[in-house]
Amino acid sequence: MTTDIGGARLQAVRRRLAELLPADSLVTDRARLRTYECDGLAHYRVTPGVVVLAGAAEEVALAIRVCAEHDVPFVARGSGTGLSGGALPHADGVLIVTSRLRAIREVAEGDQRAVVEPGVINLDVSKAAQPHGYYYAPDPSSQQICSIGGNVAENSGGAHCLKYGFTANHVTGLEFVAPDGAVVELGGRAPDAPGYDLLGTVIGSEGTLGIATSVTVRLTRKPEAVTTVLAGFPTTDDAGAATSAIIGAGILPAAIEMMDALAIEAAEAAVHCDYPDGAGAVLVIELDGPAAEVDEEFAAVRQHCEAHGAFEFRVAADDAERALIWRGRKSAFAAVGRISPDYIVQDGVIPRTALPEVLRAIAALSSSSGVRVANVFHAGDGNLHPLVLFDDAQPGQGDAAELVSGKILDLCIEAGGSITGEHGVGVDKSAYMPRMFTDADLDTMQMVRCAFDPRHIANPGKVFPTPRLCGEVPGRHKGTHQLAEAGVAEIF
Ligand SMILES: Cc1cc2nc3c(=O)[nH]c(=O)nc-3n(C[C@H](O)[C@H](O)[C@H](O)COP(=O)(O)OP(=O)(O)OC[C@H]3O[C@@H](n4cnc5c(N)ncnc54)[C@H](O)[C@@H]3O)c2cc1C
Repeated sequence: MTTDIGGARLQAVRRRLAELLPADSLVTDRARLRTYECDGLAHYRVTPGVVVLAGAAEEVALAIRVCAEHDVPFVARGSGTGLSGGALPHADGVLIVTSRLRAIREVAEGDQRAVVEPGVINLDVSKAAQPHGYYYAPDPSSQQICSIGGNVAENSGGAHCLKYGFTANHVTGLEFVAPDGAVVELGGRAPDAPGYDLLGTVIGSEGTLGIATSVTVRLTRKPEAVTTVLAGFPTTDDAGAATSAIIGAGILPAAIEMMDALAIEAAEAAVHCDYPDGAGAVLVIELDGPAAEVDEEFAAVRQHCEAHGAFEFRVAADDAERALIWRGRKSAFAAVGRISPDYIVQDGVIPRTALPEVLRAIAALSSSSGVRVANVFHAGDGNLHPLVLFDDAQPGQGDAAELVSGKILDLCIEAGGSITGEHGVGVDKSAYMPRMFTDADLDTMQMVRCAFDPRHIANPGKVFPTPRLCGEVPGRHKGTHQLAEAGVAEIF
C-alpha cells in the first residue's frame, strides 16, 4: 500500500462505491462518519474516509474488490466494542460495518451447528438455540452487544471458556472475503478438514486477513444442573491458592472468576451485588454438568475454599440469586467508573499457579507508584484484567497509569504469560509484540499475513509494530527480504 496523496484514490473509491451500492449503504457525511471514529478504546480516534453499511455478504465482497482495485485500505467493524483499537478506521480508507448482517440462517440441531451472519449479536445465538436445548458457549462479558464476526476476529473468551474453550473451539466454518475480494469457504460443519489449518489462522487475526461474512458455530447442549457459588476470602493470595487447589484436584468448573477488594467496592457502588463484607477477594465459581457430578464437585470445591480461608461460602438458591452473583462480576469494568473518572482495562495472561506472586507484584507496583489498580479476572485461565485507575484532569496521572499498565504486561511476560488473553493486540499493543516475540517469530507471522494480503490493505497498522517491511524492522535486519525482492510484498 502506498500513500494516497490528496486522497485521490479514496475519492475514486467513493465514486465507484456510490455507483455500485444502494445509497443508504454508504456514509460520506463528515458528521455521520464521526460516529465510527473509535471502538471501545475511545482513547484512539480516526474519522474513516467512507463507511459501508453492508446489507449483504455480496456488498462486503464488492466493497473489498473496489478497495483492492484502487489499493485503498479497509477495516472491518462489528459492534465496535473491541478494547484494543482493532476497529480503529483508516482516514484514507473504507470502514466496512457488518451490523446490518444479523440473520441467523440456520440452527441445525442434528449437527449441533448454527450458521449466522457476522453482525449477529453473541447472545442472540444462544437465544435462537435455546428452544432446541442448546446454547453458544463463548460468553464475553460484552455478549449482549458484541458481534460474532468481532468474536471470530478477536478469538474472544469469557467466563465459561475455562471449561468450554474460546471462540476458536466453537467455530467450525467461515465464509470469508479475502483482501482481493475473492469469497472463500474455510472449514464447514465437519469437526476438521485436511491441509493447513487456514480456519485457525483466520480466527484471532483481528481483521488483518479479510472479513468473515458467514460463521458456522458449534452449539453446546445445555447442562442438566448448574450450581453457582460466591466465596469470600481474606486476601487474593487465599483466593488464588483455592483456585489452584480446585483445578489441581482435577475439578474443571465452568467458571472461576476473581475480584479483589477495590473491584468489589466498585461493583457494590454500581449494582449493589451484596458481596461479602470485608472480603479481600471473592471467587465466583460455577459448576455445571450431570447433576450427580455437580453435587460431588460442589462438596470438593467447598472443602478447598474453606481449607484456604473462605469465611463465606454462599450458594445461589435460584436463577435470581445466580443472576445477582454474576451481576457484580459482569458489571465490574463499567462499575469502576464509580470510583475513578478514568481507567485503563488491561488484559494479560499468566500461568494460573503464578497468580499469587503476580498479584503481589501488581500490588507493590501500585503502592510504589501511587496508581490504584483494581483486579477482576478469569482466575481459572490466569487471564488478568487489571483496571488501572487515574484522573486525566490531574497532570501526569494518565502517563503514570500508562506506565503501570505497561509494567503489568512485563510482569505477565516474565511469569511466562502473554500480553493479551482475549482483547487482542489491535493498535494498542502492537508496540509490545517485540517484548514477547523474537524478530524471527514476527517475520513468520508477517509472511502469513503477506500470503493473504500482499497489498497490505486489510486493517493496516494493527497487530504488528510499524514501520515494517513484510517481516522486517528497518535497520535491524540485513539485506532485502526474499518476498520483497520477488515483488510479492512491499514496505508498510
Ligand atoms: C464492557 C466490555 C466487556 C468485554 N468483555 C469481554 C470479554 O469478557 N471477553 C472478550 O474476549 N472480550 C471482551 N470485550 C471486548 C470485545 O467485546 C470483544 O473483543 C468482541 O469480540 C468485539 O466484538 P465487536 O463486534 O464489538 O468487534 P469490533 O470492536 O467491531 O471489532 C473487533 C475486531 O474485529 C474485526 N472484525 C469485526 N468484524 C469482523 C468480521 N466480520 N471479519 C473480520 N474481522 C472483523 C475488527 O476489524 C477489529 O479488528 C469486552 C468489551 C467491553 C466493552
